[in-house]
Amino acid sequence: MNIPELFGTNVFNERAMEEYLEPEDFGKLLSALAKGCELDITIADKIADAMKRWAIDKGATHYTHWFQPMTGITAEKHNSFVSPSAGGGAIMEFSGKELIKGESDASSFPSGGLRATFEARGYTAWDPTSFAFIKDGVLCIPTAFCSYGGEILDKKTPLLRSMEILNKHSMRILRALGDRETNHVLSTVGAEQEYFLIDRKLYERRIDLKLTGRTLFGAKPPKGQELDEHFLGSLRPRVSEYMKELDLELWKLGIYSKTEHNEVAPSQHELAPIFETTNIACDQNQLIMEMMKRIAEKHGLACLLHEKPFNGVNGSGKHNNWSISTSLGKNLLKPGKEPEKNLSFLLFLSAVIKAVDVHQDLLRVSAATAGNDYRLGGDEAPPAIISIYLGDDITQALESVAYHRDYRSADKIKMNPVANVLPDFTKDTADRNRTSPFAFTGNKFEFRMVGSSMSIAEANIILNTAVADVLSGFADILEDAFDVEQAMYDIIHDTYEAHKRIIFNGNNYSKEWELEAEARGLKNYTTTVEAFDHFTDDKNIELFARHNIFTPTELRSRGMIMFENYNKLMLIEAKTMSEMAKKEVLPSVMKEETELLRIVEKTNVVGLKGRISNTLSRLDYAVEAYETLCDNITELDEAVEKGSALTDEREKAFFIRDTIRPIMAKTRKTVDEFEKTGSTKYPYPSYCDLLFSV
Ligand code: ADP
Ligand code: MG
Repeated sequence: MNIPELFGTNVFNERAMEEYLEPEDFGKLLSALAKGCELDITIADKIADAMKRWAIDKGATHYTHWFQPMTGITAEKHNSFVSPSAGGGAIMEFSGKELIKGESDASSFPSGGLRATFEARGYTAWDPTSFAFIKDGVLCIPTAFCSYGGEILDKKTPLLRSMEILNKHSMRILRALGDRETNHVLSTVGAEQEYFLIDRKLYERRIDLKLTGRTLFGAKPPKGQELDEHFLGSLRPRVSEYMKELDLELWKLGIYSKTEHNEVAPSQHELAPIFETTNIACDQNQLIMEMMKRIAEKHGLACLLHEKPFNGVNGSGKHNNWSISTSLGKNLLKPGKEPEKNLSFLLFLSAVIKAVDVHQDLLRVSAATAGNDYRLGGDEAPPAIISIYLGDDITQALESVAYHRDYRSADKIKMNPVANVLPDFTKDTADRNRTSPFAFTGNKFEFRMVGSSMSIAEANIILNTAVADVLSGFADILEDAFDVEQAMYDIIHDTYEAHKRIIFNGNNYSKEWELEAEARGLKNYTTTVEAFDHFTDDKNIELFARHNIFTPTELRSRGMIMFENYNKLMLIEAKTMSEMAKKEVLPSVMKEETELLRIVEKTNVVGLKGRISNTLSRLDYAVEAYETLCDNITELDEAVEKGSALTDEREKAFFIRDTIRPIMAKTRKTVDEFEKTGSTKYPYPSYCDLLFSV
């Protein structure tokens, strides 16, 4: 197999464009893309035609505008290329108009009250910056999605806008620093994706996994991740086959899937692609998730993307590696050999520090979902407090400039591995800090809070916008400065003084940090609902309005959709739990009771009455469990009914958090305890079965 030849074969990339377009049209397209200007319709017609011929050559018969509504996943509506022709024949048609604009019924997608039902129409608009691709014999065209009135209803539009303003203000800075060569600046993202793989047959037997993506019941297995043997351990053959096929399919889609390894928890794995422009990275992450699930099915596996499929076992996240690069390929967050002399780096670094400190709440929101609530703040995941890890080296470099102090780099220690045949290498001056939610990792920041099933759009919209906002303030100063270098020193000093509280290089999982963070005045929104509640604070409305990312109305509608999505998911969980408890667990407890009763009766008959104290206490327990579970279910059903009746989404969310979730926890405890008695009547595959089956 020739991988370089295979790579990107399902993508209408520049290679394919060049092959299918006239050189003149190809040139026009490239220059429009480079300048970011609009394409005229005659070119669009030619591109559409080329795209169609390419797709048909690849066996496609349909096309779809592929978009990312506020559901967090992607949506598509398939149309065939077939059009009637004279004499009852058919021709394959696809026009520039169809490429550029699609119409879609928007009424079934969340709009947060933006779209009145009589205005159900929504539009999708081609995003020429992300390549079209073929998936399942369908030509997929990445598009943005908006309502009839032009309000944005998706995640791509604000992401593209946030990239544009980051470009604008970064360019102002570069120009003020005397850079005349760079013509644009981009944010780049590499999103590492964690996931679980379990056996499909077992998955099919758990309605909770099928409906909610997580186990609603399940006691901890006797063996968890204590031995750490799974982490980077060798791959099981079935997993290895799966990963091979996944890689192949991703490569065809032009995704540089790079490293794959086992994660900490049993059955947990990770995939890291090579970073891309943010918009493309976001599209690709959606495709990665889709492919992961689909290919798992082919291998008799189920891929779980939920943040916390198993209680008491590590959850899954998505590490959003983010940086800023110029059109000349220079990474603006690269410290170089002498960070203490790299003022431009320290300036951009300061912008990130300030942005993260000022907008802690927004970053927290970007990682908040019902699913991530089971993970954030837990033992293994970043806590809900946002802080930045810089490492000692960079912190010292920053301080030396901020306070005109001497800089002493931590010494680079030569490591000489045990065997002489191995080459020497220098030890990294800073060890990785795995506990930090926002860590500087050499030439990029790694935001680790995002949940594994979430779109990375929000996190990056917020990062881009918040950093651009700070850069715009810096640019105002630099553009007016008499002595630019002195102004840079001043900005770095002032920013560090005002925002150093956000820097924390220690252990984020410790109890002491929670106390210290509080003393520093950092925010700690422990639950999603609490975080959502701050999304539409005045500060945030102003930030997004100032840069034309969201109008206040759009932002409020987004806030509403967040609550709505949370409520829907949580109510499905609660109802599924009740259903499982009623239909499967209760009858099992009853069976256990009946069996024990029979033993008691029999022993009475044969005169062994005095010798069955253990059986009696088990019976006692089963009776108790049955009664408790009945009570739990009644309480849960009543709460669900009450919660469902609430019409205010915010109020509903708080009710779910404060009333329904505790009842669910209680119900789970009852059932997990029953499982732990070792009753053979327990109706579901256990954690052991699920986690050690592949
Ligand atoms: P680490 O060893 O710190 O995990 P890796 O080189 O393995 O770093 O990269 C982790 C992820 O970060 C990968 O997805 C990679 O593509 C991405 N990454 C690397 N450099 C950048 C960058 N400049 N911008 C965004 N993401 C990046
Ligand atoms: Mg990582």
